[in-house]
Amino acid sequence: MDQQKHTTEDTLTDIFGSKEMRSPAPTEFIPKNKTAPEIAYQLVKDETYPQTQPRLNLATFVTTYMDDYATRLMNEAININYIDETEYPRVAVMCGRCLNIVANMWNSPEKAEWKTGALGIGSSEACMLGGVAAWLRWRARRKAAGKPFDKPNLVMSTGFQVVWEKFCQLWQIEMRTVPLTLDHPTLDIDEALKACDENTICIVPIAGVTWTGLDDDIEGLDKALDAYNAKTGYEIPIHVDAASGGFILPFLHPEKKWDFRLKWVLSISTSGHKYGLVYPGLGWVVWKDKKYLPDEMSFSVNYLGANITQVGLNFSRPAAQILGQYYNFIRLGFEGYKEVQQNSMDIAKYCHEQIGKMPCFRNYAKEVVNPLFIWMMDPEYDKKAKWTLFDLQAALQQSGWMVPAYTMPKNIDEMIVMRIVVRQGMSRDMADMLLGDIRNAVAEFEKLRYPTPSRIKYENKEHQKGKVYTH
Ligand SMILES: *Cc1c(COP(=O)(O)O)cnc(C)c1O
Repeated sequence: MDQQKHTTEDTLTDIFGSKEMRSPAPTEFIPKNKTAPEIAYQLVKDETYPQTQPRLNLATFVTTYMDDYATRLMNEAININYIDETEYPRVAVMCGRCLNIVANMWNSPEKAEWKTGALGIGSSEACMLGGVAAWLRWRARRKAAGKPFDKPNLVMSTGFQVVWEKFCQLWQIEMRTVPLTLDHPTLDIDEALKACDENTICIVPIAGVTWTGLDDDIEGLDKALDAYNAKTGYEIPIHVDAASGGFILPFLHPEKKWDFRLKWVLSISTSGHKYGLVYPGLGWVVWKDKKYLPDEMSFSVNYLGANITQVGLNFSRPAAQILGQYYNFIRLGFEGYKEVQQNSMDIAKYCHEQIGKMPCFRNYAKEVVNPLFIWMMDPEYDKKAKWTLFDLQAALQQSGWMVPAYTMPKNIDEMIVMRIVVRQGMSRDMADMLLGDIRNAVAEFEKLRYPTPSRIKYENKEHQKGKVYTH
């Protein structure tokens, strides 16, 4: 660019009159010189402009709306490191209170003043901690019995979230998966027990399966596992991955037994930043009793001004989410959480019903058990359609919606589905706007005379080879 035509810049130079605004942004090296803060701010802010509005992102489970007071509290705590418990002891106390509340929400039988649990950066860290504890308990039992402890395995359905694949890879635990099928859209209990043996560290059922929104039958699993353990003499426990369900079931189905009321459920994890309604960066894991948290998982450090015991994979982490969670508990109370979750449920059910009525679609499940659902193309319609759900995803993106289309896990991976996650912040009016955009997009697709590129790839079965789309 011709620099000569520009006069010398001074403090009166407009942000968009500056040289930075006509120069490429740094992509490889730290810039040699300084940039005025307002210009740097504008540059960074504008990088995010082409992205979707977070509340129109119906792909994510993670909170995209909190009220002004919560936002203020969290912003005011932005400079607080959770790990500095000595310096910020009230944060540690609030964290303990949140853990107590979560544990009691899940009917913990533990009598101690402080329930046994830990916070994580999300469910991923919480799942890892639950998994590691199960593995160490299994190992200690095997060692004590003088048996080999080098071939641990874990059993769950192919509807697992990717964290379990990471857990098994990183800790070298064999992952034994039970396929989801059209007949068994959730964990097949008989098949799960067939996959177990003396080396099984735990079975992981899911409350709120990421792929489908359904719940595994945890009470049924517990009952069958009890008989299995009695017969074999094993002591295989259950860790419930309740990333979504952990904050849905206690409010909408308190009578349903899926938690510590069940005999073999020894640990449960959830995402505080999903239906716990806190902005990203928060997960919880709770054990049924202190004795199920192996000592090796607690680390003491003495250089923060006192002896601090810590359970977690991270050391430093933001404290703001704890304030957000504790605020939500006080602000909403049981009644408030129930209202918010019920509204999300009602709107999810409304969308489910409306989409089910469109001739081109078919819902995957008749029922909506968490505030999310998936649907596919009607099989008859699919035979003559010139488009796919991937085209619909792209069309909706033009009006700002992110509604993901994806193929299902192994065994049913020929199926393309689309998913909507309804969260706090999605109103009936927004649902109507979305449904209108879906209807308009379909009407346009029906005018097509030739198949779309995505349809051609689908008919050539290329989408199954992971070549076309990833998710
Ligand atoms: C979201 C999710 C996770 C991972 O949770 P993060 O909070 O994103 O780390 C694990 N399991 C299930 C079932 C989930 O839905």
